[in-house]
Amino acid sequence: MEVKKKDIRALTKDQLREFFTTQGDKAFRGNQVYEWLWQKSAHSFEDMTNISLETRQMLKDNFVINHIKVDQMQRSTDGTIKNAVRLHDDLIVESVLIPTATRTTACVSSQVGCSLDCKFCATARLKRMRNLNPDEIYDQVVAIDNESRLYHNRPLSNIVFMGMGEPLMNYNNVLKAIDKITSPEGLGMSPKRIVVSTSGVPKMIKKMADDDVKFKLAVSLHSAIDEVRTSIMPFNTTFPLADLREALQYWYAKTKNRITYEYVIWDGINDKQKDVDALVDFCKFAPSKVNLIEYNPIDDGQFQQADSRAIDMYVKTLEANNITVTVRRSRGKDIDAACGQLANKS
Ligand code: SF4
Repeated sequence: MEVKKKDIRALTKDQLREFFTTQGDKAFRGNQVYEWLWQKSAHSFEDMTNISLETRQMLKDNFVINHIKVDQMQRSTDGTIKNAVRLHDDLIVESVLIPTATRTTACVSSQVGCSLDCKFCATARLKRMRNLNPDEIYDQVVAIDNESRLYHNRPLSNIVFMGMGEPLMNYNNVLKAIDKITSPEGLGMSPKRIVVSTSGVPKMIKKMADDDVKFKLAVSLHSAIDEVRTSIMPFNTTFPLADLREALQYWYAKTKNRITYEYVIWDGINDKQKDVDALVDFCKFAPSKVNLIEYNPIDDGQFQQADSRAIDMYVKTLEANNITVTVRRSRGKDIDAACGQLANKS
């Protein structure tokens, strides 16, 4: 029976150093291999040209490198790129590169499918199959960084965890991936340029505050009225708004970081004055920013973007209450890469 080889990238640097010493080699060899695996993103042991052929063969006999493969890359007329990424077990996730005049942002996935069931989201139709490993998250970012350099002549500047899956339901692996992304031994990006966007898991928001994380937090709120929120995000019955608010208060008390809310206004769902009044009330406890995001229907048309009058009403009311508000146009609609559309077709 063939022995299943271990993914070498599951080893820490110290474990790699120790592996080499147990092989009678120098611990330093572990540093060299680690650099190939992360900083240089080597896809095979053959790439490691400063390692002897004999050592490369020994590594091949013992390990595999489970790299992701970009199976399909689609380019939108607005410059957005969507990758369908094949994992080592043939499951597929999607990630997106969103270029604007001032930044290039990677929107990455954290799970295959999602266990939550937001009614407006294409990913929710795929049941959660598994969590992504830290290296699978890291690889998505590397692939997008390469595409950003190739097609837009600039490196990636920002990352949002807003692709498939709920990142706080895969917290440990997301944290490990961010550690690698921000480490000088990885991509060396600033944590301030990374946003983890959650649908609102109170216990995990408090844990993030306790862990003193340096990246930013965004919450997909979409309604500050329990009844409405439950109708579009049914897990709100388990994590009601009062619990979410209490967790966010805890986060703000510890981090003093402004809270960003992602918010879509749908026709007939949350487009009334009482909806924006509830949002203002919800935001009161801490400095807040609301991103009003354009919505892209996901085929059966149950959810439709509200008209511009509703958007104006939100903007005016929020500004009158000193809450920062931005209106975000969605990108990559023609390739189903826009917000809420991931996994629509694959
Ligand atoms: S919006 Fe996010 S949390 Fe909700 S179902 Fe989609 S992927 Fe999951």
